[in-house]
Amino acid sequence: MPDAYARLMLERKSNPCTPEEQAGTDASRCPKCKRMTLHQHTGECMNGCRATTKGKKNMTDRINALTIVLGEDIREDDVESLCEAIMHMRHVIHVEKNVKDIGSLVSEQRIRQELSTKLWDVLKG
Ligand SMILES: [Zn+2]
Repeated sequence: MPDAYARLMLERKSNPCTPEEQAGTDASRCPKCKRMTLHQHTGECMNGCRATTKGKKNMTDRINALTIVLGEDIREDDVESLCEAIMHMRHVIHVEKNVKDIGSLVSEQRIRQELSTKLWDVLKG
């Protein structure tokens, strides 16, 4: 076993990882050396130029859910095929339907009323 380790070290010595390889597949570009050498987790430049994204935004946000807003209210049985289609998309494991509640119906009607009153005022001059 120690022999295997020693061989690995020798191999690494003669064929070391590039700074890009060390930085990982989600590495980002170093502002100093302009290489893709900012480490995917630590944000440090693997090219040794002391540049870092630490403290700045080096990890992109992870999204765990999407909300889809429909352009108009659709009957539940008519929306079924849309839900089915979304379910077949990559990464989707669940689709939740949001039933229109009385609160949103009331505010929608009030906005409609307010807009038509304003429009009428404009038309009257
Ligand atoms: Zn660098």
